[in-house]
Parts: sequence; C-alpha cells; structure tokens
Amino acid sequence: MSKVSGNLFVIAAPSGAGKSSMIDALLRRHRKGSMQVSVSTTTRKPRPGEKDGEHYFFVDEETFLQQVDAGNFYEHAKVFDHYYGTSRHVIEDTLASGVDVFLDIDWQGARQVKAAYPGVHTVFILPPSNAELERRLRIRGQDSDEVIARRMAKAQHEMAHYGEFGYIIVNEVFDDSVDQLEHIVLSQRLRRSKQQIRYREILQDLLAE
Ligand code: 5GP
Repeated sequence: MSKVSGNLFVIAAPSGAGKSSMIDALLRRHRKGSMQVSVSTTTRKPRPGEKDGEHYFFVDEETFLQQVDAGNFYEHAKVFDHYYGTSRHVIEDTLASGVDVFLDIDWQGARQVKAAYPGVHTVFILPPSNAELERRLRIRGQDSDEVIARRMAKAQHEMAHYGEFGYIIVNEVFDDSVDQLEHIVLSQRLRRSKQQIRYREILQDLLAE
C-alpha cells in the first residue's frame, strides 16, 4: 500500500453543542493515531485545568502578531476578544504523514481554510434546540443569567453561519452524533482519489490482464 495523505476537517459549532466531547469520543475510538486535533495558538488566558501545548499554545498578543507576520498561521481570527490561529507547519506535516486532522475553529477560520485548501471537509454541529443549548450551558457552571444570555447571543451569531459548511450534525443523541461524525471522516478515506493511491499495486494487478 502506498502512503496516502490525511484528510483535513474543520469542525465548528456554537459553545454548548457538544463538539469537544464528540471529537474526544471519536479519538478514543481511533487510538491508533490515524486522526488528531490540531492544537491552536491563542492570546486568551488558560481556563482552570487547561494545559499549554495540550489545549492551546498560550501566547501574548505581541508574540501572536509576530507569528502572523512571519506567515506561521494557516488561518487566524479574532474570535470575540482574543486571537486564535492554526499553525501551518503542524497541519502540513501531520497531513503529509497520513494522519487526518481536525481543526476545531470558528466560521471565520473555516472560510480562510476553504480558500487556502479547497479539499477541506467542513462540518457544523448544532444543538437540537435553543432551549437544550441553554440547558447545556447552564449545567456547565455557576454562570449568572447575564453570562448565559451573552453565551446564547454568541451561539446565535455562530449558528447563523451553518450554511457555509458541507456537513451538518444535529447533536441530539450523543452516541449517534459521534457515529455520524465518524461516518463523515471514514468515508473520505474511501474516495477514489485516495484509494487509487492506497491500492495502486492492487489496481495495477487487477487491470494487467
Ligand atoms: P475557546 O476560547 O472557548 O476555547 O474557543 C472560542 C472559539 O474559538 C471557538 O469557536 C473555537 O472553535 C474557536 N477557535 C479555537 N481555535 C481556533 C483557531 O485556531 N482559529 C480560529 N479561527 N478559531 C479558533
């Protein structure tokens, strides 16, 4: 079998839709290392429990803007109050090694990636209703009504862009949603363009007669 490059996926969702848990569950099913999430760089401060280099690379604004000028980012965006960016070399090296890469980024980043990499597959995860989204945001912590209202407004803003994505998953039953995400990811590996490279010798033998 010949080496086939990995597929690139953008996975976007409003906060509370369940995106991170779905991606984690999918990665647990595929521990072999055939897929991974790209670790972004951000200027926001770490939340309790977040580790540098694992959840994000946490940098100050000056360092971030220097990296922008140096062309280090595949895409970058200001999401509400902070900068976020996807490292170019990590993505390119990982895809070249045959591993599928998930970009957990917002709609602005998705637009830039689509322009730079037309082969990207874009997935948007939605909650089943606004009431359920609000319920999920409330069970996360002790946030005030005002904070919840702000999160809901942000979610509306993000969800308004669902039409720019190629695949939609409505996360109602968690395991079903993980299955659906898995189907999207695995089916890309079966595309003729990939299979022709993967099974070059078999195809040559089959057609040699
Ligand atoms: P959080 O600060 O809650 O981790 O993420 C806030 C938002 O920024 C989420 O919508 C997340 O998908 C987005 N985000 C995280 N990393 C990146 C990135 O590298 N690029 C872009 N464009 N958005 C990102």
